[in-house]
Amino acid sequence: MKCRGTVRVELSRDVTRDDLEALEKALKEVGLALAKGFRSPEEGGRVVSWEHAGRVLSLNIETGRLRIDEASMRVKNSLEASLGARRIGVRGIRLEDALVEVEGEVRVDTKLPYVESIEKSQGRTLIRLKSLEERDLKRPVLLKLLRLLDEKEARARWGGKAEHWQLLKRSRIKFDPPLFTGDPNKVLEEAGLVKRFSIGQWLYTPLATYLLNAMRELFLSEVVLPLGFREAIFPKMYPLEIGLKTGHLRGTINSMVFCSLPKTYEISEFEELTDYMYVTDEAPPEELARYLRHPEYFLCYAQCEPFYWFFGGELLDDSSLPVKWFDRSGPSFRWESGGLYGLERVIEFHRVEVVWLGKPEQVVETRNELLRAYERFMDEILDLEWRAAWVTPWYYEQSGAAERVEEFDIDKPGTIDFELWVPYRGPREEQKAWLEVGNISIHGTKFTSPFRIRHNRGETLWTGCSGFGAQRWLVAFLAQRGFDPDNWPPALRDFLSRNPPPEPVSAVTYPKTQAGREELRRLVELLKKV
Ligand code: ATP
Ligand code: ZN
Ligand code: MG
Repeated sequence: MKCRGTVRVELSRDVTRDDLEALEKALKEVGLALAKGFRSPEEGGRVVSWEHAGRVLSLNIETGRLRIDEASMRVKNSLEASLGARRIGVRGIRLEDALVEVEGEVRVDTKLPYVESIEKSQGRTLIRLKSLEERDLKRPVLLKLLRLLDEKEARARWGGKAEHWQLLKRSRIKFDPPLFTGDPNKVLEEAGLVKRFSIGQWLYTPLATYLLNAMRELFLSEVVLPLGFREAIFPKMYPLEIGLKTGHLRGTINSMVFCSLPKTYEISEFEELTDYMYVTDEAPPEELARYLRHPEYFLCYAQCEPFYWFFGGELLDDSSLPVKWFDRSGPSFRWESGGLYGLERVIEFHRVEVVWLGKPEQVVETRNELLRAYERFMDEILDLEWRAAWVTPWYYEQSGAAERVEEFDIDKPGTIDFELWVPYRGPREEQKAWLEVGNISIHGTKFTSPFRIRHNRGETLWTGCSGFGAQRWLVAFLAQRGFDPDNWPPALRDFLSRNPPPEPVSAVTYPKTQAGREELRRLVELLKKV
């Protein structure tokens, strides 16, 4: 990388003839400061020319490995030190006409912040920047900008496929032929166990809740609690800042649900709108928007974000590690657009989110314990056809630069997905017949670093998390084993026999169809015989 640009220095007073000698000396110092730590001024930075007019001093500089924003700050600090003796202060600096030349033809030419233009020629890319104020030079936006270009480049190169998918393990074939080939999403709706509330949202009647809870409770008692995880309650509405730190706001903004607070608490200020609704019985969203603040929150997305926030800025010692918590206190929200389907891909879903924090070996060990417990849960407790796969992105950001993930190492950051066969979608040989129901991730320092979660003796801390989506587990379970409890595994039957089912909802007009009403009657009878 090579850079050049003009550093405009605003001084506290005009430079006079008498100051010239001192100024020349000061500029020699600047030269030394720019080359400091490098083998030559070409490798670090140098002043190519300079001029002054009134109280403005302009330096044309060129840099090699020293980034031009850092060079500009060196100019300022050096001038401050040497002009102080002549009672000339430095009011501020600004970098103008900066040109950054990077190796390779960067394939992106989007509208990037601070970029005036991008030019590509002969294997090099010239990035012309808008002028950078001192606070931009300090932040440092240029570093971030270069990283962003790197990431975009990596995404353009490897982004076609979203992630590696490598089979780790699969269960034996258990249902040949399948016990059930119906679509449980349809049965649950038809029998009136659930009713569509709005796009991607359902109301789960007590009977549906009973089944969802059975899945969740079994998971907690067989997997989570025996491993020593303790329950916490996490907030479900997050300030934007949390999403900036976790990276979700950049990576998954297209599927997040945002929310706004009212502009005022004064009800009379809404009068025009409330009168309109009174008269017309309509609530026009665009009108409502005028009474709301801009979105300052997003709804629970990954569900583990508040955990990192809680330990943010804290120091932990060995006695408190590893920390093992879980949250199941409320829903997660995702805008899945065209992908929405039944209960298995919804906007509002319920998940048990398991999170842990510790030294790398503790985080890996906890993941391994969970992995074994999940395997037992799928294979013995629920006795289903399952598979586990290692999924990692094709590239990831490593110390500021996007790197390709060449091979997988299960003890490094990455994710294991659990998938269950859903026969209603096709034979088990087909990729589309598998539904991801949960996963376990090791994040490395992805969250401990931005949230500044630290160890008192400076050891590295990692985190991990695992999400158990209740709707997905229930749908996949029913898809394999059907609705007849005679075909359900003993652990679940035991659980249900200790917790008798609630009475179903029945109204003259609900469930809607005759077939649905019969389905419900049959289902209740079946459940009663457990
Ligand atoms: P997918 O690739 O199927 O969209 P994901 O990778 O987005 O899943 P995660 O972000 O890892 O899912 O969330 C963890 C778990 O939360 C999933 O394994 C699943 O059980 C559940 N989940 C995620 N999105 C939804 C959704 N839209 N509806 C229901 N459950 C979901
Ligand atoms: Zn998580
Ligand atoms: Mg998803």
